[in-house]
Order: sequence, then C-alpha cells, then structure tokens
Amino acid sequence: MCGIIGYCGPKPAAPILIEGLKRLEYRGYDSAGIAVGADGNLHVHKREGKLFRLRERVPEDLGGVWGIGHTRWATHGEVNDLNAHPHTDATNTIAVVHNGIIENFTSLKEKLQEEGYTFRTETDSEVIAHLIASLYDGDLETAVRQTVRLLKGTYGILAMHAAEPNVLVGARNGSPLVLGVGNDEMFMASDATALVAHTKQVVYIEDGELVKLTPKSYKTTDLRSREIDKKVDFISWELEEIEKGGFAHFMEKEILEQSESIKRAMQGRLDLEYGTGHLGGLNMANKELLEVERVKIIAAGTSLHAGMVAAYLLETVARIPAQAELASELRYRNPVVERNNIYFAVSQSGETADTLYAMRELKRKGARVLGICNVVGSTIPRESDGGVYIHSGPEIAVASTKAFTSQMTALYLFALIMARMRHMSLEHGLAFIKDLEQVPDLVARIVDRRGEIELLAKKYAHAGNFLFLGRGINYPVALEGALKLKEISYVHAEGYSAAEIKHGPIALINDDTPSFFVVPDNGLRDKVITNMKEVKARRGPVLALAVEGDREVAKIADDVFYVPPTHEYMYPFLMVVPFQLFAYYTAIELGRDVDQPRNLAKSVTVE
Ligand code: GLU
Repeated sequence: MCGIIGYCGPKPAAPILIEGLKRLEYRGYDSAGIAVGADGNLHVHKREGKLFRLRERVPEDLGGVWGIGHTRWATHGEVNDLNAHPHTDATNTIAVVHNGIIENFTSLKEKLQEEGYTFRTETDSEVIAHLIASLYDGDLETAVRQTVRLLKGTYGILAMHAAEPNVLVGARNGSPLVLGVGNDEMFMASDATALVAHTKQVVYIEDGELVKLTPKSYKTTDLRSREIDKKVDFISWELEEIEKGGFAHFMEKEILEQSESIKRAMQGRLDLEYGTGHLGGLNMANKELLEVERVKIIAAGTSLHAGMVAAYLLETVARIPAQAELASELRYRNPVVERNNIYFAVSQSGETADTLYAMRELKRKGARVLGICNVVGSTIPRESDGGVYIHSGPEIAVASTKAFTSQMTALYLFALIMARMRHMSLEHGLAFIKDLEQVPDLVARIVDRRGEIELLAKKYAHAGNFLFLGRGINYPVALEGALKLKEISYVHAEGYSAAEIKHGPIALINDDTPSFFVVPDNGLRDKVITNMKEVKARRGPVLALAVEGDREVAKIADDVFYVPPTHEYMYPFLMVVPFQLFAYYTAIELGRDVDQPRNLAKSVTVE
C-alpha cells in the first residue's frame, strides 16, 4: 500500500524524496510528507492529498542531504495534514515514517501519556516516534531496535534523528522495505520502483531485520543485534518500464502490452518435443507432481479470478480436484491441510497481506505452498516452497490487467504439465501448446479493434448498474469484468454465472441495467443464449462478447463485440481483454482517475 522513501548521500534530499514518492504514487495514497535534516534540525512538510500539493509546500531552497518520505493510506485516523507522516517526537528531533498497523498502539500510547508524552495525531504510527524518543540514549539504531521489540503488528519503518546527520534506520515486519546501494549514497524504499532511477543494486530487508544506513555503508542486524550478511540483488527491468512511454495512462499501456506479456510468461517454459510445460521454479520432481491429489489456489481480487479459471482448467484437463479460494477467508477458518495437496498463492505484488498470512498459516500446518507472483524478490516468492514468476514487468496501474493474463498463463502451463503426466496424450499436449501460443496474436487482434469497445463504453457509460454474466471457464471472466468496471469507473457492477440470474439478480433488470454476456462457442453457448433472451424479455439492454461468425447473438443483443475463434480453454484470455478495455474507456468517459482510483491501493499490505 502507500510508500516509504529514504535518502542519505551528497545530494539535496528533498527532490530525491519527492521524485521517489512520485514513483510510488501508483500504489494509491491519500496524503504525503517528507522530513529533511539540515542545520541540526528536522524540517517536516506534510499534506493531505496528491503529491503536487506537498510539493507546493516544500521550499525550493530546503537544504539537507538526508531525509525520509511517505505516502499514506490511512488506517487509523482521518485523512488530514496532521495525520500524514512523518511523525515526530515532542522536540522535533526524531522523525518516523511507517507503513502498516501497530496493533498494540493503544496500550503503548496510554503508557507514554502517563509518562507525560503528548500525542498530536490520531494515528497508530505516532506512538513509534515517542517510543524512540523515550528510549533514545545517543544511538538511534539501538532506540529503534528497542522500540520495535515492543511493537505488535505490521511495519516498515524509517527513522532519523537530528543529532545523527546522514544516518537512517529502517526496520521491517510485514511491510516491505528495500535498500538501494548507490555510489556514496544510499536509498530505502518500500518498493524497488522508487529506486531504479538511481541504482539497480538492491538488498531486500526481511521481517525481523533492522538496517542502519550512512552514505557509504549499510549494516543489517536482527532484533538481538546480531549482524546479518545480506545478498545484493540486481533489478532486472529498466526505468522505461515504469514510465508511461506516450500512453495516456499506465492502464492503457498495460492492457495493450498483454500480447507481449503473455508471451513472456510462457517463454522458455514450453516443451515442444514432449508436448508439456517446464516450470523449474516449482522445485518439484515429476514423481512428486504425480503424487499431487488436489490443488488449491489462494488469492484475492483479480488474482482470485485468475485462480478460478485455472482451477476449472486443472479439473477439466488434468482431472485433479482443484479449487480457488479467498485467502482472507481461508486463513481464519482453520483449514484442513491434507497430504498430497499443493497450494498456489497468487499475488501480483507478492506482498498481498491476506494471501501472505494465509500462506504462512498453511505452511505452519505443513502444507507445500507455491507462489505465482510478478514482483521478483517480494515476500511470497521468498517464503514459498517454490513457484513461478510471471514476468509481466512492473504493473503500475492500480487495476490489474496484464498480471491477470500472465497469472493465467503460468497456471495453464502447470495444468498442462499435470495433464500430460496423467491423461493427456502427446498429441493433445502439442495441440494445447499450439492453442496457447496463438493467444498473444489473437489478443493483439482484439486490442487493434479497441475503438469498437470505446464506442460501446461511450454508449453505456452512464448506466446506473451493470451485470457481467458468463459460464463455465468464463464465469470468473465475468467476475473480473465486473470488478474492473467497479474499480476504475465506480459504476456499480455485479458478476454472476449467467445461470444464476434467475435466482435473484434478474430482479435488477430494467432499462438502466445493461447485462454484458460472455458467449463462447462451447457446450454452454446455447444455455447462455437462453439467459440472454430472459434478460431481453424484461427489456434489459444486452451486450455480448461472442465468437466471430455467431450471427444469432447479434440478433438478440443490442451490441456485440466479436473475438476471433480459438480453443474453448483459451477464451478467458480473449474475453477478458474487451472487458478491461470497456472498464478503461468507461472510466475515461466518466472522467475518473484511471491509474489511481479512489480508495484503492496497488499492493494491499494490510489485512
Ligand atoms: N497505520 C498508519 C496510519 O494510518 C500507516 C498507514 C500506512 O501504511 O500508510 O497512518
């Protein structure tokens, strides 16, 4: 969620901090602030709203070569200037930024208040600044270590002290922190995108670790002061990948990139000789894969929908019982972990708190959990037993698009491997690969006709409600279509199985509630057509995604977008792209902030 940035080195800190926060904007936030050390003082500027409002407030000539910055996604206390971070102690000598939630802040606050500390904000985070002040005895690192030992909850923290110029101390438990190693300068951030303009050498800080930075050095320790040797990693993507490159929005760029990103997700992972896939990162021998009796996929939001499509495919082609489930629900229902089950934790960022905590609970119960993630080096891949990176490249728009199709690609390859080890013949394996390999070109053809979707969006943008309806393997695609529309256009939309409308949602149908159907050319086509007629009979506007050549659909629906024919398993790729574009153009028509929709955050690091 929100972001953290820190700098110490020879250059003026404020512009670097603000530029770093700009790179983190995509994560979603409601206020921003910086603290810069200069002339023995800390200069703190913070403001509710977008970053440009903070920038207006930071003096041009603010000196100082070390500092910290934050974008907040409020959890405790209103969104206002005061509650924005950094937070300081009473004497303004200590400044702190914090991502996460301090669960025991009330008891800590009461104790500090009894000792005479005065609180100025409603946040949980302020308690950290006062705690450090109460424990400070000339060494910031020690005071931060003593402080975090008292904290319960999640945190990524950066702290600075006016009397320790050019020193930053960071600590992490549950909220990501990454160190950037430069030439005689050091950076900290909650996410590598904020660093890549300055350095590609990074060190991922783990839970329970503390890091002290000076311009020329960094030292990582655990909570008992034992030094930890850290590996320096290298960011493999380029700065251009996190820039818009001429597109109006990141979301547009990312939707259009999908034919490339799907290709990347399968690159080097297809075995054309044996008609199967190759996913070395699973860390499982064929013998172990053969013993798998059930696959469970845990995820949230869009990733859950990718998991639902994959579960359908796994059962159908590999004949393995498979199920996708909300990670947030699984975690608290004391799940049964059976021998020979494997779990996939699917998360674009690799930091989704609900998924991560569910994964930890499963691992405590002895489960094997594999990650399907995009962000290399993020927490889920690091803590999982293996997995697959989807290699989408950075996904910046809050609404996930290319990660969805790449998550599906990775899981399709897994389904292929499992199917080939069981019932699928070499011939069918090769045919499956051929169909999958054609997907990127078919997606490109759809994207080339985006003007048609734009017209549809313009026509229907002002409808009050939407239903998205699909069946079978395309049922999760309908859920995803509804989610996309809600997320970025704020138009109320529900996703349902088309069969389900008669059990309730059909009561919503009126001339202001369009229903958007997915009509593939599989065994469920006729059933869906019947459902379309049911809506039409009640004067509901009907839109459809159908397969080229299906004239009957055009006779029933008010508007149709045709996708090219493919194998029935591949339709989720072709059907979701028009839905993504529909949401995108609807949001534009309604004047929404497409890349940073209200109240949403990119990587959801709170429960
Ligand atoms: N819990 C803190 C607050 O509400 C930090 C939120 C964040 O991660 O930005 O201020």
